Amino acid sequence: MSTDVLSSEVLVLNKLWQVVSVCSVRRALCLLYLRHAQVVLKKGGSFYTFGFEDWRDFSQNRSKDSEILRTITYKIRIPRVILLLVYDSFPPRRVKFTRKNIYKRDENTCQYCGRKFKSQDLNLDHVVPLSRQGKDSWKNVVCSCVPCNLRKGNRTLTEAGMSLIRTPKRPHWRSLVRYTLDNVVEESWKDFLDLAYWNVELEQDEK
Ligand SMILES: [Zn+2]
Repeated sequence: MSTDVLSSEVLVLNKLWQVVSVCSVRRALCLLYLRHAQVVLKKGGSFYTFGFEDWRDFSQNRSKDSEILRTITYKIRIPRVILLLVYDSFPPRRVKFTRKNIYKRDENTCQYCGRKFKSQDLNLDHVVPLSRQGKDSWKNVVCSCVPCNLRKGNRTLTEAGMSLIRTPKRPHWRSLVRYTLDNVVEESWKDFLDLAYWNVELEQDEK
């Protein structure tokens, strides 16, 4: 059983079929097994829900290998969307402060010149340099292209006469899911992630 697959993301809906989170396949299978959630699957334009036993039976013969997890006694298809039956099991999700997530937040765009780059052509820059007591934080670390990085050097924005295209802050996890969706696209998520929903639901998560 591949660890990668178990860590990949599953979209989580509440009882009203609204997107509330994403979780790992591992967590989704656990919720399914505990009967706290059902799997949602679209077939022929309709949505079907499956409890654990139904999903296990459904998984036996009709799925492609890449979508199947094999346990000792049975195989089970990887869920991509689950529906919570029990609410309050999802605390607000906090986005980890990692290089990958900063790139996602900034959409691979240099926050000084506003141009988009491949990941390998971008650096992370401390807006207030570390040597000037700048912190490693969402508010102080941004994507920067190499020329902007060199131009700014070890100076503050004012000293360098530069500005940011937007104020850096901790992203809401939903905005990162949306970014993933725009770029990778988990087909089965699309139905639940229409733009109207995202536009009204986006909120700040500034702590
Ligand atoms: Zn730049």
